[in-house]
Amino acid sequence: MTVRVRFAPSPTGYLHIGGARSALFTWMFARKHGGQFILRVEDTDEKRTVEGAAESQMAALRWLGLNWDEGPDIGGPYGPYIQTERREIYQKWANWLVENGHAYKCFATAEELKAMRDAGVPFGYDRRYRDMPAEEIEKLEAEGKPYVIRFKMPLEGQTIINDAIRGEVVFDNSQITDFVLMKSTGLPTYHLAHVVDDHTMKITHITRGDEWLNTAPLHVNIWKAFGWDMPVLAHLPVILNPSGKGKLSKRTQSFQDGQFQVLVRVSEFQEAGYLPEAVNNFLANVGWAFGDDQEIFEIEDAIQRFELEDINPAPARLPYSKLDWINGQYIQEMDEVDLAKAVKPFLENAGFEVNVEALLIVMEAMSKRLKRLPEAVDFLRFLFEEKALEETADSLTHKQMPLDQAKVAYEAAYAFVTDTDSFDLDTISSTMMSIGEANTSSGKAGPFLGKLRLAMTGQKVSPPLFESMLALGQDRSKQRLEEILSKF
Ligand code: GLU
Repeated sequence: MTVRVRFAPSPTGYLHIGGARSALFTWMFARKHGGQFILRVEDTDEKRTVEGAAESQMAALRWLGLNWDEGPDIGGPYGPYIQTERREIYQKWANWLVENGHAYKCFATAEELKAMRDAGVPFGYDRRYRDMPAEEIEKLEAEGKPYVIRFKMPLEGQTIINDAIRGEVVFDNSQITDFVLMKSTGLPTYHLAHVVDDHTMKITHITRGDEWLNTAPLHVNIWKAFGWDMPVLAHLPVILNPSGKGKLSKRTQSFQDGQFQVLVRVSEFQEAGYLPEAVNNFLANVGWAFGDDQEIFEIEDAIQRFELEDINPAPARLPYSKLDWINGQYIQEMDEVDLAKAVKPFLENAGFEVNVEALLIVMEAMSKRLKRLPEAVDFLRFLFEEKALEETADSLTHKQMPLDQAKVAYEAAYAFVTDTDSFDLDTISSTMMSIGEANTSSGKAGPFLGKLRLAMTGQKVSPPLFESMLALGQDRSKQRLEEILSKF
């Protein structure tokens, strides 16, 4: 049996990080078993559908690298993969259920339903159309009265769910009402649509958020009514908000210092400068654990170890405080070209015209310092922004390098950048070192190099001096030294 699993978001908004974790677990499971990961758009709740949401959810999944094998954009053998394009299929199966006595047409009007709710009828519906004689139903239909199709839930007995994560969960059937399967608009509800789709798309494991556990007994009975083999069910735990109370939601968010303090959308993680690999690593270790107390791992290795049964059913919060550290670890491992590519959009967003060659020179030094990509903006401002030097002669001297000596040292540096034919890292570093050693009272280059770095970049924090000079280039280094000397 080939594993076939699906991620089936409703396009009602952005991709939530909890949804992304469900997608990640589902994807890991598919990859572990050499199976297929299918993307399906569940858009039958037309009132809640948001224009562009499906595309933004797909973009978020792509950013995370959770590639799908079948889906709305790429098609596949069991399409269409958008539910509103599958109306006839649901209609056909809803009719089948009615014809075979598993479902019925319910003509209850909005007023009737309201009266039942007001009277405190359990679940707001008293099954009044369930046993209506066929002639009466036909009459109402002939009059053109709108109706929904409801499932005939068994009134007694129990339904047992065998959940791959939670084990056996037992429900009394009397606790489940006759849910609507088809709305009067001719669109199915989730309850019918997903069963029909999961069957016709040959899904082997239904992995979904645990908010669906309560209606799972309804779904099991729909499967039984069809006489179809049931996929394995696995209800994934939700992510809690940082207080530990309630599900993580947008309402948890506060906005401070130009960014959300609690990130909820996948796009917010991207905008905050986290790498998709780091986000996957972070998410995989919540509710599931790589093991060996290992916090950083390759997703490929995690896939090898992954089992649905090992997922902890308890809801959990995201340990946001670890995310910077995890991301920093990933940044350190990146080569210069990849890091430059990742950092570039953030620099451009800050309004800089990015010189890629200069960027590459400082990337190695940066990789040890960055926790999040946008931090590069302040580090590298001096490279892409011309700004007058705010330092004074005083601030560019040192107790081991008083004014006269400092002037001599900066003049020597100026002479070097003006005359040299070897403006490379080795020559810059050996020359600046010897200028420093010759011009401080201790004979150590440190004080000069520190001050020169400050003067060249105009920044308290920046990449190291030699890389900074090389990245600035010979001409701009010369201009900056002229400006430095003008202060003396
Ligand atoms: N469309 C459902 C949701 O977004 C999907 C549930 C499922 O995966 O079956 O909650």
